[in-house]
Amino acid sequence: MRTRPLVPGWCLLCRNAGMVVWIGPVEHDGQSAPAYACEPCCEYARQYISFYNKQWDARPAS
Ligand SMILES: [Zn+2]
Repeated sequence: MRTRPLVPGWCLLCRNAGMVVWIGPVEHDGQSAPAYACEPCCEYARQYISFYNKQWDARPAS
């Protein structure tokens, strides 16, 4: 997994200032802005992404 650099800033998810990593653009009303998240929120986002993608791999249980 590729590691992105930590930069000083603030987390879009928990709004705490500190070292954050770029997580991608956020878009609203035709405009976009860069979004950053702290390490705990990145871990949460990774779990969300993993869960979301596993849904598409799910086979019937029986
Ligand atoms: Zn955070």
